[in-house]
Amino acid sequence: MKIIIIGAGIGGLTAALSLHKCGFSPVLYEAAPAMAPLGVGINVLPHAARELIELGLSEELRAAGVEIDELVYRNKWGRQVWHEPRGLAAGYRWPQIAIHRGELQMLLFRAVQQRLGVDAIRMGHSLERFETEDSGVVAHFAGHPAVQADIMVGADGIHSMVRRGLYPQEGPARWRGGFLYRSTTALPHRLLGGRSMLWAGYASRKFVAYPIRYDAATGNSLINWICDLGHGQQEREAPPRQDWNMQADREKFLPAFRDWQWPDVSVESIINASGVVYEFPMVDRDPLPRWTFGRTTLLGDAAHPMYPIGSNGATQAIIDGRALAFCLATAKSPDDGLHRYEEMRRPATARIVEMNRANGPDQVLELAELRAPGREDDLDALFPHAERKEIADGYKKIAGFDPATLNARESFDPRPGASSGP
Ligand SMILES: Cc1cc2nc3c(=O)[nH]c(=O)nc-3n(C[C@H](O)[C@H](O)[C@H](O)COP(=O)(O)OP(=O)(O)OC[C@H]3O[C@@H](n4cnc5c(N)ncnc54)[C@H](O)[C@@H]3O)c2cc1C
Repeated sequence: MKIIIIGAGIGGLTAALSLHKCGFSPVLYEAAPAMAPLGVGINVLPHAARELIELGLSEELRAAGVEIDELVYRNKWGRQVWHEPRGLAAGYRWPQIAIHRGELQMLLFRAVQQRLGVDAIRMGHSLERFETEDSGVVAHFAGHPAVQADIMVGADGIHSMVRRGLYPQEGPARWRGGFLYRSTTALPHRLLGGRSMLWAGYASRKFVAYPIRYDAATGNSLINWICDLGHGQQEREAPPRQDWNMQADREKFLPAFRDWQWPDVSVESIINASGVVYEFPMVDRDPLPRWTFGRTTLLGDAAHPMYPIGSNGATQAIIDGRALAFCLATAKSPDDGLHRYEEMRRPATARIVEMNRANGPDQVLELAELRAPGREDDLDALFPHAERKEIADGYKKIAGFDPATLNARESFDPRPGASSGP
């Protein structure tokens, strides 16, 4: 069966490795002329770390990223609103890894080249249009001959050409108002405990920071940070340009965080000491009623772009790739495999898109701000701990990383007994 994947991002590359492990020989077509480590930090949550570890990438993943062991939520006064262990410390069989997006992409790219061969990735191939039928697909690339395949997987990200081909009337992404400003800062010390994720503020003024490199001996850290500003603004009609590489001026957002100075964290200093800052509007798209048409399906951001809340963007793309391979390898026919993949992943990811629109796990911060905005407000009386726990646990269940369920779930590897621990 000839399978082609459009887009060699996190989802496309993982899908290729997963399909290969199941005995297929997929070919990736990527628009970029060469692979380059773009982006800043992302999180690989335990349910995605599991999939990469089961693909045999444990060593590379752990070497390139940082194992996170706690999540700390604070209000704008620096007071702790929520704390929970993460990764192995939370009882998962797999770690949570914070990593530079570009390094993860390069790691996956090298693995594809080593395992599938250099010919398995065709760079400089931008999909222009395609025809999908019950028996196969024809893909047309700018400046290259057309390619025929039995199955085509659209893993071409938030601006997906494949999705546009399937839904020509869909229009632009939904903008909630507001931007994410992202960068990295080298710190000559630990951020909190060293392997900590810090989430502070509330929906329309939020600061997120976590290490993507950490030297436990010296404490030296490379911190990925995000300022999420104005995300509670009224939704506007037309979203601004969505370019992952668009640079931003600090003065657009720094004033909103200048007074966030706490004994152990100075948000202003972290922002001021950073490298280039990138901006991206807070956009997503409505969940689709259908992903598969003929022999074409969608995966990752092409299928379910979501607000980057709860660290699920890359994680869900990785899981899609593994689920697709599992379904195709165990199905009666290609159509049955595509059908089962969609059944498994479309409703699950739609729930996360919806949940992220309601602030996902960050609803804890939002309610803390709404109910106890003053420095001296009695947070515990106004926002009981049990309610905070309910939000945190509920999100994990919906996003598929409730520890007990994940630890007990069968592997996506079709070989019996293939599940692996840390
Ligand atoms: C350059 C870049 C930087 C990013 N930086 C961040 C970041 O800092 N933080 C963050 O949270 N998320 C970032 N993301 C998004 C993040 O990677 C995704 O949200 C998540 O990993 C899901 O991955 P995906 O494979 O579905 O999409 P992506 O990782 O976006 O990959 C899509 C791939 O498809 C390719 N492509 C697009 N159109 C075509 C076409 N017509 N033909 C062929 N190939 C095509 C793209 O070049 C890209 O390589 C970035 C994405 C990109 C492309």
